[in-house]
Amino acid sequence: MSSAKYIFVTGGVTSSLGKGIISASLGKLLQSRGYSVTIQKLDPYLNIDPGTLNPYEHGECYVTDDGAETDLDLGHYERFLDITTSQLNNVTTGRIYHTVITKEREGAFLGKTVQVVPHITDEIKRNFQLLDENGQYDIIITEIGGCVGDIESLPFLEAVRQFRWEMPPNDTLVIHLTLVPFLKAAGELKTKPTQHSVKMLSEAGIQPDILVCRSEHPLTPDIRKKVALFCNVNVNSVIESIDADSIYDVPLLMKKEKLDERVLAKLKLPQKNEPDLESWKIFLGKLKNPTREITVGVVGKYVELPDAYKSIAEAFVHAGVENECKVKVKWIHSEHITEENIGSALAGLDGVLVAPGFGKRGIEGKITAIKYVRENNIPFFGICLGMQCAVIEFGRNVLGIKDATSSEIDKDSPNPVIDMMESQKKVTQKGGTMRLGAYTCEIAKGTKAYTIYGKTKISERHRHRYEFNNKYLDKYTKSGMIASGINPDGNLVEIIELKDHPFFIGVQFHPELKSRALRPHPLFVKFVKASIEYSIKKNELKLTQ
Ligand code: GLN
Repeated sequence: MSSAKYIFVTGGVTSSLGKGIISASLGKLLQSRGYSVTIQKLDPYLNIDPGTLNPYEHGECYVTDDGAETDLDLGHYERFLDITTSQLNNVTTGRIYHTVITKEREGAFLGKTVQVVPHITDEIKRNFQLLDENGQYDIIITEIGGCVGDIESLPFLEAVRQFRWEMPPNDTLVIHLTLVPFLKAAGELKTKPTQHSVKMLSEAGIQPDILVCRSEHPLTPDIRKKVALFCNVNVNSVIESIDADSIYDVPLLMKKEKLDERVLAKLKLPQKNEPDLESWKIFLGKLKNPTREITVGVVGKYVELPDAYKSIAEAFVHAGVENECKVKVKWIHSEHITEENIGSALAGLDGVLVAPGFGKRGIEGKITAIKYVRENNIPFFGICLGMQCAVIEFGRNVLGIKDATSSEIDKDSPNPVIDMMESQKKVTQKGGTMRLGAYTCEIAKGTKAYTIYGKTKISERHRHRYEFNNKYLDKYTKSGMIASGINPDGNLVEIIELKDHPFFIGVQFHPELKSRALRPHPLFVKFVKASIEYSIKKNELKLTQ
């Protein structure tokens, strides 16, 4: 039986105020006081999951161990709390409706009219609680996507209202994240947008317990009092959330504002110990005081929107801290790369990562970039499509298979060195049908991959339909590109590496999804290390010239 307490995080005034980071930071604080915490995101759109959304629409699609394609906020939850999330941690309106409509077809509601209230709201409430079926959590934080006032958020707010009414008084809590803007012309912070958004929330029957006010300037005592008075909360429940240098500062800023203390008091939970944030502070110390700096290039086709590669960007932060090095990322559009400009496109970089992706667009630029870094001994790291491009490049330029390609680019190619997986050939539906989630990979001893991981059995997350075509494996191995990691069940190549290169590794999986602030991913750590070494060598060479 679940005895968990439930915290709901809503947002108002505008989107992008950082509900995900606030939820993750609060989760971190409660967890570091000794509570068992998980975080859930409810998204009000009609897609069953974000897997079918273009990254420009919704940023990165974050994949969990159990193969769910989810919202990128789950990445923050995992990175901050070092927890493993699952399908249950991300629910969309589409999924809720799909379940209800499927049940209706099965006759579960025979004789009844199926309605938003109670059927949809009941299904939402069921999803609040599904995470804690085994009663393992003390606290569940549920972030409601979108803004108060959006038509599509209404059933979620109604479900929260009902759930609060049904539960004992101190078992639920609502935190509302809002904006307190600074009006330059008036020289003042303005509370009216917050007042309006709380009013709108009250119209849905929800009185927030705590207000987290995002602001570019500190909240004065007067402003706090005004917000408290007009929004009907205690003054000490008005929490300032000032713009931070790094998202990793936010747990400490929230602690300073006593958000965790307020939450525990309202939920009538013991304060337990002061949060143990020692290792987090060490992480932050290193983040802010790097001893050196490098620049890595990320070649991808969604670079206009860095959220499309959120986990890669964060994995570089973690790996940089581990190496006490600031990793600057230069985002390079693969469509802008040509044979002619490649030297200048990659000039000054200490390492190059070729990003995941789908479809034809930008592929040739990626291949050109890989040829350049392979020939110039620049550290290379290819992820998913990045690895596939490395295989194509090697096929064309080293093995002499001039028309080597992926059947994703040319389905009739005579030389598909990357080919569609057998299991994918009969798949017709798009959503949730790729090879998704965690699979084991066996690493061969004596390889770079083995030195990096220090073990032979690993598990990593996947999201792809195409794979290395084993028909060509012998040829590749003989010429120095080896398959250092293999999935034992399907005999699929998961890691490739070059013998005669300082760092040239491609992985079919997504290591970025498993990098956590305090547990950086070894592949990123070692890629950054190799890039530092390359940068040192490059500078030594300059000095002797
Ligand atoms: N488009 C490629 C595939 O489906 C790579 C996918 C990816 O990079 N995530 O296999």
